[in-house]
Amino acid sequence: MDYRWLKHFRDGSAEERDLLGGKGANLAEMTRLGLPVPPGFTITTEACRHYLETDSQVPPGFWEEVDAALREIELSRGSRFGDPANPLLLSVRSGAKFSMPGMMDTVLDLGLNDETLPGLIRMTNERFALDAYRRLIQMYGKVVLGVDGDRFEQAIETIKRETNRAYDVDLTPADLRRAIFGFQEIIQEAGATFPAEPMEQLRGSILAVFRSWNGERARAYRRANDISETLGTAVNIQSMVFGNLGPDSASGVAFTRNPSTGERALFGEYLPEAQGEDVVAGIRTPLPVEHMAEDPAFAPAYRELKAFGEKLERHFTDMQDLEFTVEHGHLWMLQTRTGKRTATAAVKIAVDMALAGSIDQSTAVRRVLPEQIEQLLHPRIDDSLEVDVIATGLPASPGAATGTVVFDRETACERAEAGEAVILVRNETSADDFPGMLCARGVLTARGGMTSHAAVVARGMGKPAVTGCSDLEVDESAGYFTVHGLTVHTGDALTIDGSTGRVMLGTVPTIAPGLTADLETLLAWADGYRRLGVRANADTPEDARHAHDLGAEGIGLCRTEHMFFGEGRIDAIREMILAETDEQRAAALARLEPLQVADFTQLFETMHDYPVTIRLLDPPLHEFLPQDEHEIERIAADLSQSVEHVKTVIASHWEANPMLGLRGCRMGLIYPEITVMQTRAIMRAAIDCAGRGIRIEPELMVPLVATTEELRRQRALIEETAATVLAETGVEIDYRIGTMIEVPRAALLAGKVAAYADFFSFGTNDLTQTTFGLSRDDSARFLPTYVEQGILEADPFQILDQEGVGELIILAKERGRETKPDLTIGICGEHGGEPSAVEFCHRIGLDYVSCSPYRVPIARLAAAHAALGEIARDK
Ligand code: ADP
Ligand code: MG
Ligand code: MG
Repeated sequence: MDYRWLKHFRDGSAEERDLLGGKGANLAEMTRLGLPVPPGFTITTEACRHYLETDSQVPPGFWEEVDAALREIELSRGSRFGDPANPLLLSVRSGAKFSMPGMMDTVLDLGLNDETLPGLIRMTNERFALDAYRRLIQMYGKVVLGVDGDRFEQAIETIKRETNRAYDVDLTPADLRRAIFGFQEIIQEAGATFPAEPMEQLRGSILAVFRSWNGERARAYRRANDISETLGTAVNIQSMVFGNLGPDSASGVAFTRNPSTGERALFGEYLPEAQGEDVVAGIRTPLPVEHMAEDPAFAPAYRELKAFGEKLERHFTDMQDLEFTVEHGHLWMLQTRTGKRTATAAVKIAVDMALAGSIDQSTAVRRVLPEQIEQLLHPRIDDSLEVDVIATGLPASPGAATGTVVFDRETACERAEAGEAVILVRNETSADDFPGMLCARGVLTARGGMTSHAAVVARGMGKPAVTGCSDLEVDESAGYFTVHGLTVHTGDALTIDGSTGRVMLGTVPTIAPGLTADLETLLAWADGYRRLGVRANADTPEDARHAHDLGAEGIGLCRTEHMFFGEGRIDAIREMILAETDEQRAAALARLEPLQVADFTQLFETMHDYPVTIRLLDPPLHEFLPQDEHEIERIAADLSQSVEHVKTVIASHWEANPMLGLRGCRMGLIYPEITVMQTRAIMRAAIDCAGRGIRIEPELMVPLVATTEELRRQRALIEETAATVLAETGVEIDYRIGTMIEVPRAALLAGKVAAYADFFSFGTNDLTQTTFGLSRDDSARFLPTYVEQGILEADPFQILDQEGVGELIILAKERGRETKPDLTIGICGEHGGEPSAVEFCHRIGLDYVSCSPYRVPIARLAAAHAALGEIARDK
C-alpha cells in the first residue's frame, strides 16, 4: 500500500528529519543499516501540521493508513493488537525534528486491557504483565488524559510503604492489582476514563502527541531555542520489546564515547529487569554497561551493542547516544542520536575524530562551540590540597562548585537572586527542578546514574554535578541530609567535585586551569582558519603571561592605572595629586617613572614580537584619593601638609558625574606632565628591551577622545617627548600613536580623528555607556527589568548592541579608513571575548579583538567559526 501520511521504518532514512522527526528518521536509518529495531512506522510531521492547522482534524484516509500499517507490523511480529490470546503491544513515541528533552511524552505498552491481560500473563508471567498494565494506565492517564502524575506516584508510594517494599520491582502481583485498581479510580475521580479498546488507546495517544506540540512547556522550549512553531512533530508507533521479562532482560542507554571525558569506549548503564524509562528516571542506580560483558545472560548482546555503536558512529561520523533493550538475551536498538557532551568531551572527540581521519579539521573546529569551551576554563579543585571528603558519588558533570546547601528550587532561586552561590541537593531531579538547577552552581543527587535527568541536564548547562551519591539520606522537605552520622542543613557550605564525584564539607579553594593538549590542538587548527587577530586586555606581567599562554597575539589594552594601585605606588600618585607646587608634582612623577619603566619592560618581555597597546591614564584622579579619616591623617603627616589642605584638595576633585568628568585625555591635557611621564616610561622600557634584542613596537593609546584637537595636542606632546628620549639615547624605536573610540562624537568624526591616529580601538564598554546614555554603575536598578520585560533583548554591556553601538563602529571604521586605508582597528571592551561580538568584528572587517586573558581561547575559536561560517555561506 502507498502511504501518504506515514512511513514504515524500512522505507525512511536519516535524510528525512523534517518529515519523520529526529527519532523517526534515525529509527529508519538503523533499520536500513540492518540493525535490530522493533518494527514500526512513523506518522509524518505533515499529518501533525494538518491536524494543528485544521482545528483538530486528521487528514482524510489517515486512520485507514494507520490500520493498514499496523496490520503489517502484526504480520511481521506474528501477534495481533488487541488479540486476547496473543496480544501485540505498542509504544507511541513523539519525535520532532529537534530533540526537545522531556517536552513531549511517550506511552508504552498500548494494547493491554482486562481481556488481553490474561494472554500476556500466559505468554510471559503474571508479575510482568501486571506491571506493564499498571504502567500503561499510569502513562496514559498522565500523558493522554492529563491527570496529575503525582497522584499515581503517591498511590504507588503508599502501597510500597504499607507493604514494606523498597523498589517498584519488589511489588508483588497482588500489590500491582491494587495499583491498577487505584489508578483506574484516580482517573475516574479526575472525570476521565481509561479506554479499554486498544484502537482507542492508540488513536488517543497519537492525537495526544499531536496536541503536545502546543503544550506550554514545549512552546517555552521552542521560544528559548529559536525553534519554529510550524514544524510540528512526528509520531512513532513501534512494537514493544521488554527489558523487564526476567534476569536475562534489561534496558539501558549508552554513548559510543564517554560524554564526560570524550574517551573512546562504549560508556553507559543498564538495569536488569527494567523498562527503558526506569533507567532515565533514576529509580534504582544502574550498572555500568561494561558489566554486561561479565554476565553470561548479556555478554552476546554486549558484543553486538559495541559493534552497532561503532557502526553507527562511523555512519553518522559523530558520537552517538543509544537506547537499547535486551529481551531474553536478544538485543534491540530503540534509538540513536548525536550525543550531548561536556566541553571537555566535545574537544577530545572532535580532535580524536579528525586525527583518525573520520572528519576534517574544519569540521572538528566547527563542532566545538566557543560558548562551550568557557566551561573548560572553569575552576577545579587543587589536587595538592588535603580535602575533607564526606561522601563520593558519580562524577556526572565535571568542574568544582562551592556554595550553600539548598533542597528545593524556590530556595535555590531566591538565594541565588540575592547573590548567594548555592548547591542544589535532591534525591533525584525531574523537569520541575530545572529552574533550580539553572540558579545553582552545582547539583548533588542521592540517586540516579550518569544518564539520570540531573546528570544530563547539568552536563548540558556546563554545571558541576555529582549524582548517585547513595550514602546520602536526603530529607528534602525538612531541609537536611545525613551521611555517615553527619547532618548537613540548608545554608551549610558544601563543595562538590563533578570531575571525581567527591563531596566535601565547607569551602574548598579552586584553581583556574590552563589549556589541555586537545584544546591546544583544536585552537591551533582554529587559528589556521581565522582572519581576526586575538589580543588580550592585560595590566600586569602575570596577566600578560597567562594571556600569552592562552594564545594571545599581543596586548590590546593595558590599563596603566591598575599599575598605580600597587604597593608603594598609590602614595606616589597621591603625592602627585596633592602637590602644592609644580616642583612637588615633578618630584612625585619622577618617583613614579622608574616603577612604570619596570612594569612596561616586563610586559614587553612577555609579549615580545607582539604589539603591546598601552592606554595612558584614564580614570578621574579622585579614584586614587583616600576617603578614610585615618588615611587622610597619615598622608597629611607623610607629606607634611595640613589635614585641612588634604581635605580641601579631595573635595576639589569631587565630581557629580565622574564618568563624564575630568578623565581620559582630558587629564593628559590638564596635567600634561602625566602624559610626558608615561611616554618617557614607555620609551625607556622599549629602549631597554631593544638593547637586549627584544623587538617591540609600543602602541600609545589616548583615551576618551571626543575632538580632533584633543588628539592632535596629545599626539604632539607624545612625539616631542619620545623624540627627546630617543635623542638622549640614540636608539631607534618604532612606535605608534592611536586612540580609543568610545564616545559617539569621536565615532562620527572618525574621518578627521584618523588624521592623527595610527590605530583605533573601540572601547565598547564606554561606547555602550555613552551611546545609550546609560551609566554602567547605575544601571543595575532597571536593566534586569528591561531585559526581563523584553524592552532590551539583552544586557548591552554583556552582548554587543550591534544595531546601535555596532552602527557607530561600522561608521567610524569606514570614515577612519577613508582617511587612512591602513588604519589598524580593533575592539578592547569586555565584548572582545563574546562570540556574537567576535563574529560581528570579523564580518565588518576589523583587524583584531582584545579580551580578558581567560576568554582568549573563546575568541580564537569564535573568530574561526566566523571565518568558516563565511566560507560555508559563500559556497
Ligand atoms: P524520550 O525521548 O523521552 O527518550 P522515547 O520515545 O525514546 O522518549 O521513550 C521513552 C522510553 O521508552 C525510552 O527509554 C525508550 O527506550 C522506551 N521505549 C520506547 N519505545 C519502546 C519500545 N517499543 N519497546 C521498549 N521500550 C521502548
Ligand atoms: Mg520523554
Ligand atoms: Mg529516548
